[in-house]
Formats: sequence, C-alpha cells, structure tokens
Amino acid sequence: MRWWGWGREDRRVLLTPELAALLDSALSLDGHLRGPVAFGDVALREVTLAPRARQRLEDAVGGPAWVRSDPASRIVHSGGKSYVELVRMRAGAPHGAPDAVVFPASHEEVLQVLAICSAERVAVVPFGGGTSIVGGLVALAGAQHAVISLDLGRLGGVLAVDAGSLTVSVAAGMRGPALEAALAEHDLTLGHYPDSFEFVSIGGCAATRSVGQASSGYGRIDQAIQGVRIATPVGELAPAALPASAAGPSLRELIVGSEGVLGVITGLLLRVRTRPARHCYEGVVFETFEAASEALRVAVQDRATPDVVRLSDELQTNLLLAAGEANGRRAPLGRHGLRSRAGVLVIVGWEGQRDSVDRRRLHTMTLLRRGGGTPIGEAAGRAWAASRFAAPYVRDELLGRGVLVDQFETATTWTGLDPLRASVTAALVEALGARGTPPLVGSQISHVYDTGASLTFTVLARALDGQEESQWRAAKDAASAAIVHAGATISHHHGIGRDHAEWVAAELGELGVSSLRALKSHLDPFAVMNPGKLIPAA
Ligand SMILES: Cc1cc2nc3c(=O)[nH]c(=O)nc-3n(C[C@H](O)[C@H](O)[C@H](O)COP(=O)(O)OP(=O)(O)OC[C@H]3O[C@@H](n4cnc5c(N)ncnc54)[C@H](O)[C@@H]3O)c2cc1C
Repeated sequence: MRWWGWGREDRRVLLTPELAALLDSALSLDGHLRGPVAFGDVALREVTLAPRARQRLEDAVGGPAWVRSDPASRIVHSGGKSYVELVRMRAGAPHGAPDAVVFPASHEEVLQVLAICSAERVAVVPFGGGTSIVGGLVALAGAQHAVISLDLGRLGGVLAVDAGSLTVSVAAGMRGPALEAALAEHDLTLGHYPDSFEFVSIGGCAATRSVGQASSGYGRIDQAIQGVRIATPVGELAPAALPASAAGPSLRELIVGSEGVLGVITGLLLRVRTRPARHCYEGVVFETFEAASEALRVAVQDRATPDVVRLSDELQTNLLLAAGEANGRRAPLGRHGLRSRAGVLVIVGWEGQRDSVDRRRLHTMTLLRRGGGTPIGEAAGRAWAASRFAAPYVRDELLGRGVLVDQFETATTWTGLDPLRASVTAALVEALGARGTPPLVGSQISHVYDTGASLTFTVLARALDGQEESQWRAAKDAASAAIVHAGATISHHHGIGRDHAEWVAAELGELGVSSLRALKSHLDPFAVMNPGKLIPAA
C-alpha cells in the first residue's frame, strides 16, 4: 500500500478530461498539482519504548525481526486512510507514530503481548488492513509511556470449512481478497466487498461492523459472523458459536464493532454462501432521487430487495458520467442511457443461481418500473462493476489537484431520509461556504433495509493550502451535528474510531457509554487497548 495514499504503487486511476474540467470549473481549482513530500522528509517523534518492554515483546513473538522500529514500519503503521490522515501524511506530518510494530503469529502470542503491554504500560493499536477512515489507527499512547501497532498480518488463513453448515473458521488477519480466493476453491463466497476490499482484513471488518457493496443481499459483516474469539489483556473470551441462542444477551455482539478497545479479535466463524453462478447488474433511471428512493422502499418492503443497490443523486450521477472514461477505457455508461443528463441513476444487482437471479430480477424490476424507473440495461451495470474499487484511487488524484474530498455516512428510517438528506447537505454547504469554498455535495443510498436505508454524502471543495484540516473539521462538525440532530446514526459502516467518538454518546446515551467504560475496565484494567477510540473520555 502506498504510504501517502491508496493502493499498489503500480496502479493509478486518472481523472478523465471531462471530470477534471467539471471540477476545475465548479470548485475554482488553480490547476496546480501537489505531490507528497519525499519519504525521508516524514517527521517521526523519538521512540520511547523501554528496552525491557522491547525485549519481552521480542521474546513473545519470535525475536527482533517481529518487533520493528525502522522508519518505514512506523510510518506505514502510523494511521489509516482518512482524508485528514492523507493530507497530513502527504505533508510529512502524521498525527503520531507507534514506537514499534509488533507482528504476533498466533492467538497465544497475542495474549502474551497484551499481558506484557499491560504490565509495561504500553498502549496497543490493533492493525488489520490499515484502511480505517475514522482515525481508528492513530497511534495514541493515552496514559501509557509508549504505543505499539499490533500488525495481525501473520495471523491469516482458513482454519476449517464446514460445507454442510456453510461456515468457515478464519484467522482474523486474513485479507479480503485472500479469503475470497481460498473460499473459491471450495465453491464458496463470503460476498463481503467494501469499497476498500483490496486491503481490508476480516478481523478489521468485524471490529468496525463493516458493510460490503452487496450488503442488501449478503448482509452486513455482523450478520455473517457466527462466532468470534478475542484475546484481551486478562485472557480469552470466546462465546460458543451457535446458529441461534437464547442464553442471555449476546456477548458476540459486544465484541463485534469493539474497534480494538476491549482486545484483539483473533479468529472468526463466518457464514458463507455457495458461489453465485450468475452476476447481473443493471441501471435504472428515475426523474428524481425521491422517486427512486420511494420505489426502492416499496421493492424492499415487498421482499424484492436486490443484492446490490446504488442510488446516486443528480450530482453524483453527473460525476459518474463525467468519469465514464477511466484509464483510456471508455466505460459503457453512455449518455444514451441518461438522455441529456436528466435524472438519477440506480445500479441494481443480483447474484446467485441462474433461476433465482432471473426470478428475483423480474420481481424487483417490475416494482421499480411501476415506481417510475426506466431500465437502461446491463451496460451501465457492467460499467459500475468494472470500476467498483476505483474510488479510493480517484481520491488520491483529487488530493493532488487540491480538492478537499470526503464521505460522511449515516442511516435512518425511510420516512426520515428526505429531511436528513436536506439538512446534512445544507449544513455542509453552509460550513464550507462560510470559509469561502462553496462545495459540491452529492448523496447516495447504497444499503437498504426493511425500515430504512444508509445515506452517504460525498463532499468536494477547493482545499485551502495549509488549512485543510480546519476546513475539514468545520465540515465534519457540521455534518455530524446535523446527523445527530436528525436522530440518525453517526456511522452506518465506517465505525467510530477517534473522529466520531465525541458524537457517540448522542446515540448510545450516557449510561450506555458508561456501561461500555465499565466493560472496558474489566477486560482492559490498565487501559492499554486502543486509547482514544470508540469510547469518549469520561
Ligand atoms: C477508500 C475507503 C473506502 C472504504 N469503504 C468502505 C465500505 O465500503 N464499507 C465499509 O464498511 N468500510 C469502508 N471503509 C472503511 C474501512 O475499510 C473499514 O472500516 C474496514 O472494515 C477496516 O478493515 P481493516 O482491516 O483495514 O481495519 P483497520 O483499518 O486496520 O482497523 C480498523 C479498526 O479496527 C481495529 N482492529 C483492526 N483489526 C482488529 C482486530 N483483529 N481486533 C480488534 N480490533 C481490530 C483497529 O485498531 C482500528 O481501530 C473504507 C475505507 C476507505 C479508506
């Protein structure tokens, strides 16, 4: 992964001239290209890990090769991939850096590391795929004298497959693509494809309650998790993994989404599906966002939910059209499908065995047509599928052109959707407009439920050189306040991390937050686990 951005060094997704021109003009960009500082110019604070603690950690994980404090290891593990983190990294000033990166190879080694860190007062930041977008990986020491990043990359692999029950047991450090490749050998799939799929770890997904692009069909990651094993500073917690149970409140649910503040998820039992024989994605155009979301509501509540749903508003539909040609390859999402660019685009998709895809597709499409939708065929769906993991690469290009670009995501009820969309959009326009950088704000529904849907806002504005962080903070505060005021969730799928922690009490309540604090102090009595994340300071 690039240290200053997203993706492999050998891959870039260039902006089309049409998209570049649209943004230059709408955001008054100066055309100046900004690159990252040289790697050697990234500033790192001094290492404060005590020699005895280092020695004990080396003994626990197999020697000095697995406890690294070289600049490259520290820089790569200094945080995640949020807009502010990338801005700071490109400027050579990350928020902090771990004193060392530790690579355990087993559940037992993780238990030992956490016990040592508790005894030596060293903070621990679990590191899965490194794709957190909410500050979940920022190397904060809290009250401890040093902080390590605990990279779970050696803890990978499929441990067992139960083809009869359709479950697999996996080690939590396994990356998404490696897991899908291993499952394919058994004709199985997890079907969990977040936009960040290329790099995520399965444990990181569980720790953040992640959601994939086909979540409306396969469900959220939490719905796939049947069992979880966690190493805490005081020992192992591994509630029995059963398909259903009435044995009190679900401890599994307390661990899923705990973002490394209680311990380290080391293993998971996942519900999987048979690999689909057919994937069918296609486009449907509606006159307005409201008409499209109403048609989706009716379809979902009539049990006609597609597996993939991506409803883009007018702005995002136009951006998709302008981005239609990436890397010299013309995507077939042509203007013929969206005459004179009026209307909004919905991508819907079904995956499964041939008969069931045909039957389900017919049901959904009948209802979407009845709701005012005009099908534009599978070419639009293929264009979406071809570029479904391109967005993070495009973000790097935008940063290089001096664009502030971020996404704020939430979810609410169907009846709350339109007012929420209006109020968050207005809050963002006002917050950035007041700073002299009127933004483009687009919105998208990408996950639907019986009672409501997610809403993701994409914000694009001219970044003010040297003021990007305060500009972003104004936008983030405005969006978060509007979301909380509307009674929507502060995060539908990115998690809380550091960036949402101050807003979480509005959702969980003060007693809810203090209950979490009590659980944390039971499992993590010396407060070494991921300080400053998820649970707001008392
Ligand atoms: C461009 C971009 C697009 C994204 N798109 C999506 C999307 O479509 N859907 C979505 O849900 N998310 C998305 N995300 C957010 C991110 O990819 C998810 O939160 C993902 O689940 C994180 O997985 P990871 O393995 O990278 O975890 P990391 O980023 O390494 O860690 C995330 C948090 O979990 C903790 N953690 C990691 N592993 C463990 C473990 N084994 N045990 C305990 N704690 C652990 C970390 O300390 C951290 O607080 C996106 C992020 C980016 C940058």
